[in-house]
Amino acid sequence: MARSYVHEARRRGLGRRRERIGPIVERLAEAHADAQIALRFRSDLELLVSVMLSAQTTDTNVNRVTEALFHKYRKPKDYLAVPQEELEQDIYPTGFYRQKAKAIRGTMRVLIEEFDGHVPGRLDDLVRLPGVARKTANVVASELGHAQGIVVDTHVRRLSQRLGLTRHDDPVKIERDLQRIVPRADWARFPHLLIWHGRRICDARRPLCEECVIEDLCPSSRLAVRSSDASGRARAGRASSRR
Ligand code: SF4
Repeated sequence: MARSYVHEARRRGLGRRRERIGPIVERLAEAHADAQIALRFRSDLELLVSVMLSAQTTDTNVNRVTEALFHKYRKPKDYLAVPQEELEQDIYPTGFYRQKAKAIRGTMRVLIEEFDGHVPGRLDDLVRLPGVARKTANVVASELGHAQGIVVDTHVRRLSQRLGLTRHDDPVKIERDLQRIVPRADWARFPHLLIWHGRRICDARRPLCEECVIEDLCPSSRLAVRSSDASGRARAGRASSRR
């Protein structure tokens, strides 16, 4: 289990999770007004394929590949009209190209057979598609305007832990904790806010706490640690001078 900043937040009198979440969302939304999905797509189908390709690689890399890919493959049947090896070659730079090509073709088959060639908006339907796990389904559903959960990726996990919004390490449990406190209307944008804050300010190794707009709400702020160290040293200094 992750080091718990939930307790630390209470110890420092920062307020309960439910009290802090409102200002956290508000301030991050102001600081990262441009926070949105970095993948480029023009249709529900392109969104689904992009998210499937984004596993284990960067969004930039996916965008580079899909620029040509989406000219060649426009409908679900197009992905089945070529041999699997050809699709593998077309998505090769995204890595894990064999598994991804197999999953994409399997997904296209189900879309055609069960969903009339359309991408479903319900999470329960999305997770039935081959190679579509809960995180992928959550991203797609949220972008389609039907958020039914909260996307938990590596940034969301790190920031949720640092902010003392969860005690857990497991993405499913983290999502459950977040669903309890984040207002439903913010389920789609909340992960984007944490992802962009994580990329720009709250880096895994060197968080820029001095520049952070939610520093006073964060139980793992390095500034708070420094100031409590300084006051501890001052207290120790006063005690030794009295001796
Ligand atoms: S105060 Fe520091 S650790 Fe906390 S969210 Fe901001 S940058 Fe991250």
